[in-house]
Amino acid sequence: MRGFVIYQLSNLKISCLISRRGVKLRCMEALFVLFFGLVIGSFLNVVICRLGHKKSFIAGRSACPKCHKKIVWYDNIPLLSYLILQGRCRQCGKSISWQYPSVELATAIIFLCLFLNFGLSAQFFVALIFSSFLLVIFVYDLKHYLILDQVIIPAAVIAFLANIFLGFSIWSLIIAALVGAGFFALQFIVSSGQWVGDGDIRLGALMGLMLGWPLLLVALFLAYLIGAIFGLILIALNKKKMSSQIPFGPFLSGATFLTFIYGQDLLNWYFHLIYF
Ligand SMILES: [Zn+2]
Repeated sequence: MRGFVIYQLSNLKISCLISRRGVKLRCMEALFVLFFGLVIGSFLNVVICRLGHKKSFIAGRSACPKCHKKIVWYDNIPLLSYLILQGRCRQCGKSISWQYPSVELATAIIFLCLFLNFGLSAQFFVALIFSSFLLVIFVYDLKHYLILDQVIIPAAVIAFLANIFLGFSIWSLIIAALVGAGFFALQFIVSSGQWVGDGDIRLGALMGLMLGWPLLLVALFLAYLIGAIFGLILIALNKKKMSSQIPFGPFLSGATFLTFIYGQDLLNWYFHLIYF
């Protein structure tokens, strides 16, 4: 009996040690993912600023958009430099756009959410790449009311290949892309381009390639739901009129990201609801 108790206790000690080491390791990984997110966020800022300018995303150091002086490396540390400089350029003292810290922080949080959801898996790395493209589309459309082919085309090619690699059927992707594009193309034709832009048609196709069938439907539903709630809030706050334009790309890309994480659960919940 005594031997048994000691055996059990030592077993417990070992499993405690293993789980404690497991938690520690997971915390270290999560911290690394957060840090990696900040760095990638900083790179995405460069991409967003240089898009449409025919400048290389990699070559050349960043410069202040106001005084055009090169930014020294210690003023270019994600998030930290913005806080230390209190949002102002060291050289000219003009304010630095909110876009820089927000994109860095958002990328870090998105990467962490994906890590907590998928762990260090192939799906995690694919979702990192997809989310980075979606974030660029989100911010660029918000700023310029424009969705660029320069982003959509490489994203579509990568989404198609990565999802085939993850085991999606080609037909699931093609059907979803056609439905996504068709859904917006129809609205574009019926309204002569008043309700949606032609960029939304291409983004619809990209959403299909990223999510496959039938998850695309969840993303479309979420986008309209969030868009409607947001629109009502803006109207209630008197910020927008019923007729004013809000770019739809941010809602579509945001909903696509949410569908990566919650899509399957939402779909299961819905089927549960109608069948039971
Ligand atoms: Zn400056």
